[in-house]
Amino acid sequence: MSGTRDTWGRLLRNLRISVTDRCNLRCAYCMPEEEYVWLPREEILHFEEIGRLVDVFIELGVDKVRLTGGEPLLRKDLPGLIRLLAAKPALRDLAITSNGILLGEQAQGLKDAGMHRVTVSLDTLKPSRFSLLTRRDTHAQVLEGLAAVTRAGFTDTKIDTVVMRGVNDDELGDLIEYGRTVPAEVRFIEYMDVGGATRWSMDKVVSRTDMLERLAARYGVITPVDEVTTAPADRYRLPDGTVFGIISSTTAPFCVDCDRSRLTADGLWYLCLYAQQGTDLRRPLRGGASTEALKALITGRWQARTDRGAEDRLAQRDRAPLLQVASLKRDPHLEMHTRGG
Ligand code: SF4
Repeated sequence: MSGTRDTWGRLLRNLRISVTDRCNLRCAYCMPEEEYVWLPREEILHFEEIGRLVDVFIELGVDKVRLTGGEPLLRKDLPGLIRLLAAKPALRDLAITSNGILLGEQAQGLKDAGMHRVTVSLDTLKPSRFSLLTRRDTHAQVLEGLAAVTRAGFTDTKIDTVVMRGVNDDELGDLIEYGRTVPAEVRFIEYMDVGGATRWSMDKVVSRTDMLERLAARYGVITPVDEVTTAPADRYRLPDGTVFGIISSTTAPFCVDCDRSRLTADGLWYLCLYAQQGTDLRRPLRGGASTEALKALITGRWQARTDRGAEDRLAQRDRAPLLQVASLKRDPHLEMHTRGG
């Protein structure tokens, strides 16, 4: 089969582009600190630069792009970038992950610009719990944002929920019920030890097995959806046909099929969520590199890719947070809010 393959035969297909490292929430598992080091403004890629890089990635086989952040809706004039990307027919999937706060005012603009799908991060249905988790008081805006996504005509909407023991693991069924009303498919994500999750510990992880047991106790027999995909979520069906997903990155990683890479807002390209080093694409881009030179750089890096970050972490005993605050402050590119989770 054609395409650009890494050392494990994994294709380069899926590019996550962080358009800003800023966020309007301070979630406990992602941005728990008071102060952060932000990327210098002049280093943030312009839309035309992102578009040029996406063209190069498309030539190498990428056909799925997801815009992330930080919170991508904080990026000024984002519909301008979406229009530019939506005009590329080779991108068969163009999606965005948002925390939902600004979707009430922006969902229609995203749809009009050509965005295909929206995923909203939502960890709780309880406003007081939301405030504790995110240190912001904007739960109602997130729910309004989800309603606006449906009103704007989006389908295939997803809700991403990071499940943490003793924090929100009593809401699994309630979130599925809420998802039906949006409508949106809920995906439960095992709490991961990446980036800014400096307060992570294994005992706060609710495993996929545990989640399935809890949901089976409420709903009855749960059956896996039979499908071949490189998507990170395993999907399951409740007896009434409702489908939900579980992303078991911590206890049952899926690196074997991983076709994802990440571009930060300032043009560093990371081959794995856990990678400590990225490839600077901004410098050659701004230095006038030809398309062929950029293709050679990207191809060379992908063909040498060995990353299986989550599997390596699983193999470790006495697992603790991946990174300490000091190293995150030294290199903000290690933050999940910089590279887009
Ligand atoms: S840990 Fe790295 S290689 Fe594994 S699925 Fe995540 S991004 Fe892909």
